[in-house]
Amino acid sequence: MAPIHEQTISRFGLRSLLPEEVEVIAGPGCPVCVTPTVALDRAVELALRGVTVTVFGDLLMVPATRMSLLEAKARRGDVRVVYSVSDAVEVARRNPEKEVVFVSVGFETTAPTTASELLRGVPENFSVMCYHRLIPPAMELLLGVGDIHIDGFICPGHVAAIIGAGAFRVFAEAYKMPTVVAGFEPNDVLLAILMLLRQLRDGEARCENEYSRVVREEGNLKAQKLMSEVYDVATADWRGIGRIPQSGLFLKREFEDVDAEKRYEFTPIKHVDINPGCNCHLVMVGKIYPSECRLFGKTCTPQKPYGPCMVSSEGTCRIYYKYGEHPKL
Ligand code: SF4
Repeated sequence: MAPIHEQTISRFGLRSLLPEEVEVIAGPGCPVCVTPTVALDRAVELALRGVTVTVFGDLLMVPATRMSLLEAKARRGDVRVVYSVSDAVEVARRNPEKEVVFVSVGFETTAPTTASELLRGVPENFSVMCYHRLIPPAMELLLGVGDIHIDGFICPGHVAAIIGAGAFRVFAEAYKMPTVVAGFEPNDVLLAILMLLRQLRDGEARCENEYSRVVREEGNLKAQKLMSEVYDVATADWRGIGRIPQSGLFLKREFEDVDAEKRYEFTPIKHVDINPGCNCHLVMVGKIYPSECRLFGKTCTPQKPYGPCMVSSEGTCRIYYKYGEHPKL
């Protein structure tokens, strides 16, 4: 399931309602956690060079190789928090003398808004660092990870609202994995677990849509069209996980002039995704619970995160820190 499902489970104490033998564990669905360090390192470099870097607030404290964006801001780097790509474009319009870069991260949920903005036209002093990632390829990767036994998938309803419940059908049909697309209310998550358990009891593998009040089989065709006009799909790096085939969205050649990574030169450095002792890579694929990392709550806290999973409200370690460190709480 996605970390945002974990949020619901932890916040409402849903594990206490589940039988002992039912284990629910979050996978790699936190956008901030999987954004590779190279994106942050380059954003830091630009900010310190005087370029205005606009980001979602969640990215500010994420540890990077040399420093976080927050530290860059403290060193007079021009880092500004925005709530949307439109806000970032507005910053560029109001400051024509400045170069403005938007760090565009997230999954299928946020990619269409950036695409829409680029298609509408942006000022010349605006460009984008594009680090969008796709959820289904990461789920496929999980199926090949040793040491994890998966009996079923709870798929993120907000992603399915864009790409459609049908995009998750492959897991039931090709991999024979019981699959349920679920919303994020406590009842959604509990019902999704029940639907999975019924499939397992009956020895079936179907793709069911628990979130039918929002998600259609074909998804949001308009958003999909926007994405296909602006992005190419290709192999991409995920922080702590590595390269996943066909899992990233990259700006098409027609948008090269707004691609910050083509517009600027960057100092070549070795980008460090996982610091020594950090276990985010194991947390993200569900191999361990956050409380099994020896840094959890000691060296690594939301006030001073050591790994990316402790930063965002969607980070699994942050969720465990907030709602209780033991998975059965
Ligand atoms: Fe990474 Fe911190 Fe979580 Fe350990 S507690 S896995 S260092 S985020």
